[in-house]
Amino acid sequence: MNLTGSLKTKVVIIGGGPAGLTAAIYAARALLEPIVIEGYFAGGQLTITTDVENYPGFAQPVQGPKLVSDMREQALRYGARFITQDVDSIDFSSRPFLLKTESSTIEAQSLIIATGAKAKMLGLDSETRLIGRGVSTCATCDGFFYKNKKVIVVGGGDAALEEASFLTRFADQVTIVHRRDTFRASKIMVSRAQANAKIKFAMDTVVEEILDRGQGVVSGIMLKNVKTGVQEERDCDGVFIAIGHEPNSKLFDGKLDLDPQGYIMTSAMDAKTSTAVEGVFACGDVQDPIYRQAVTAAASGCMAAIDAQHYLEYGSASSSSKRGPATESKSLLGSILGWLGKWRSPL
Ligand SMILES: Cc1cc2nc3c(=O)[nH]c(=O)nc-3n(C[C@H](O)[C@H](O)[C@H](O)COP(=O)(O)OP(=O)(O)OC[C@H]3O[C@@H](n4cnc5c(N)ncnc54)[C@H](O)[C@@H]3O)c2cc1C
Repeated sequence: MNLTGSLKTKVVIIGGGPAGLTAAIYAARALLEPIVIEGYFAGGQLTITTDVENYPGFAQPVQGPKLVSDMREQALRYGARFITQDVDSIDFSSRPFLLKTESSTIEAQSLIIATGAKAKMLGLDSETRLIGRGVSTCATCDGFFYKNKKVIVVGGGDAALEEASFLTRFADQVTIVHRRDTFRASKIMVSRAQANAKIKFAMDTVVEEILDRGQGVVSGIMLKNVKTGVQEERDCDGVFIAIGHEPNSKLFDGKLDLDPQGYIMTSAMDAKTSTAVEGVFACGDVQDPIYRQAVTAAASGCMAAIDAQHYLEYGSASSSSKRGPATESKSLLGSILGWLGKWRSPL
């Protein structure tokens, strides 16, 4: 059911990927009655992949869409409510915060932002059609599928060279396709790649088309040398697009602290997930330029929900109010053990 109209809640979670859904599970089980504004891209990035082999708890590969739809089901079970629209505007200056979507206005005492990120793409139809079927944007996620295969990495920055080096653990041959004659990447990364016998280079070259030759999975690539105009068709099993990522943070530009790439900066206040605005927390890929994994997104979603819960209960996201007594009881325990140790030592 899609909620509409004027609504009020303790916590609104923006985003329906692993980060937002995990935050929803925790917030719902803490009786915060979360409203999840999951956006038109409900489920997030995992909905466009097939086998996920590295999410803990699944001895067999789980399909990306199934994994997120089960997370959503789990959040629903504990009382999370959903709006399948994008947030159009947020008033960060009002208390409660005021959010608007196409058909609802929501007042929220706290906010958890989990709007994710997207990999920059080349803009080819074949690339969109074959994503998860040989086209990938994540070597950590998919490299394992390319044992003894041939892959292409597209890009010229540090990330592309790092992905290429990582892929040589699995693939027999990795070709880096770069549109210029020099790399943007650091010298050390370039030297490492050049010293790796498995890595080949196609410089001054762009991707014209990714080919499946009617098989529904990547089987080749059409390249073009930008200086000579010569086209070349090559066989390959996978194409990794490594031309950067873009966090979905435009909505927060000028309102929260963003880094130069647009990632939301967290740990601004008293907790790991807190942003520059009190009561606003961020988790998942929108604040993570490094790990970008489902499990790290989910983990930070859990942290954001706990931080929001502390903020709502104690007016601060810090758990120090809880740590005090725990530390005291630990030190009391320490004293008792110390005393016991002394008492026992003569024996
Ligand atoms: C093809 C592919 C394969 C992958 N494979 C793996 C893998 O095997 N293992 C792994 O661990 N990771 C994998 N990843 C990475 C993983 O999917 C991401 O790290 C993870 O999804 C990040 O979760 P997130 O919740 O932060 O954001 P996302 O999954 O990006 O979700 C973002 C959510 O925010 C919503 N949103 C955005 N803007 C708005 C707005 N204005 N209003 C409302 N909602 C909004 C979207 O609708 C979406 O629901 C893969 C990624 C891709 C692209």
